[in-house]
Amino acid sequence: MRKIQLASPIIGRQERKVVMRVLKSGNLAQGPEVKAFENEFSNLVGNRECVAVNSGTSALHVALLSMGIGQGDEVLVPSFTFAATANAVSLTGAKPVFVDIDPLTYNMDPRALNQAITPKTRAIQVVHLYGLPANMPEIVQIAKQKSLLVIEDAAQAHGARIKDQSVGTFGDVAAFSFYPTKNMTTGEGGMVVFKDGDAARTARLLRNQGMEVRYHNEIIGLNLRMTDIHAAIGRQQLKFLKQWNEKRRDNANHISEKINRNLAPFVPEDFYHVYHQFTIRLSNKRDEFSRELTSNGISNGVYYPKAVHNLPSFQVNIHLPHTELATQQVLSIPVHPKLTKFDLKKITKTFNTIYKNLYG
Ligand SMILES: *Cc1c(COP(=O)(O)O)cnc(C)c1O
Repeated sequence: MRKIQLASPIIGRQERKVVMRVLKSGNLAQGPEVKAFENEFSNLVGNRECVAVNSGTSALHVALLSMGIGQGDEVLVPSFTFAATANAVSLTGAKPVFVDIDPLTYNMDPRALNQAITPKTRAIQVVHLYGLPANMPEIVQIAKQKSLLVIEDAAQAHGARIKDQSVGTFGDVAAFSFYPTKNMTTGEGGMVVFKDGDAARTARLLRNQGMEVRYHNEIIGLNLRMTDIHAAIGRQQLKFLKQWNEKRRDNANHISEKINRNLAPFVPEDFYHVYHQFTIRLSNKRDEFSRELTSNGISNGVYYPKAVHNLPSFQVNIHLPHTELATQQVLSIPVHPKLTKFDLKKITKTFNTIYKNLYG
C-alpha cells in the first residue's frame, strides 16, 4: 500500500540545476544568491528589509536580539506552538510568558494576552499557527496602547494574509522558516523581516560575528549565515509559493466539503489561510482515529501533543485550559500540494469510514 505523506517537499529539476550552478561557481557560503534571495523574498512582505539566516530558530533568535530583548524582559508567547518559539526567547535571557489561545483559531487570544502584561513585558511574539494569521488587528492595537514590540513567528505562514496585508508586515520584526516540511524550503534556512533598517543592520552583524567589514567586529555575534546553495533553492521555491498555497487551499476546501462540516478548520472572514497544516479537532478517541488513519496508509500528526509550558525544558506551573485541551484533541491530516485527486479521494473516503466506525 502506498503511503500518503503528511508533508512532502517539492524538489524538481530546477532546484537540482541551480544547486549545480552554485557548486560549479565555487561560491558556497553566503554570497550573491543569498543577497538575491533576500531581495526576492522582500516582495512577499511589503518590500520590508530581509536578512537570511541558517534556520527559522536562528531567525527568531536574531529577531529578538536585534530588538534589544534580553535579561529582565518578558515576552508574551503562545504555549500551543513548536518549542522553538519559546526557546528563542529564553536563549536571549528574557522570560517567555505563556498565554492561552483562542480555541477556534488556535492562535493567541488577545484577551488572555492583555491580562498577561506586566511592567516587565517588552514584546508580544505571535505565531501564525498552521498557516492561519493570528488576530493581528487586535494584537497590534494592544501593543500600541501598551508600547510593546510585536514579533511574528511566521515559520508556518509564508504568503498568509489578512485582507491584502501579508504576515510578516504587521509587527516590528518577523521570522520565517524554510525547513523541508514548511510551505517552501531551502533544506534548512530562515528569514528575518524588519520594519526598521537599523535593526536589520544589527541582524546582519549578529549573523556574521558582529562584523560588516572583515576583522572589524563591532558587536558580539554568531555565525548564522545561509549558504548560497540553500539560497539558490529558496529562490526557485519562491517562484512557486503562490501556486502551492493555492493548491493547499483547494485541497483544504475539498476535504472540508467532504468531511463532517463541524470538523473543518475555522477561518475568520478576510483571513487568507495557507494551510501549512489541515487540522481537525476530535473531542475524544483522537489517538484511535490517528492510528486508524496510519494503518490505512494516511500519515497524520499531532501538532502539538504537549503544551510548551509543560515540556521538561520549561515546566512552568500555570494552567492554560484552551491550550491543554487542544493538545489532546487536534489532529493534522495531509493537505500538501503534491496530493493527487486520487489521494484526496482516498483521504476523505477513509476519513469518513473511520469517523463512522468510531463515532457512529
Ligand atoms: C518550524 C518552526 C520554527 C523553527 O524553524 P526551524 O527552521 O525548524 O528552525 C519556529 N516556529 C514555528 C512555529 C515553527 O513551525
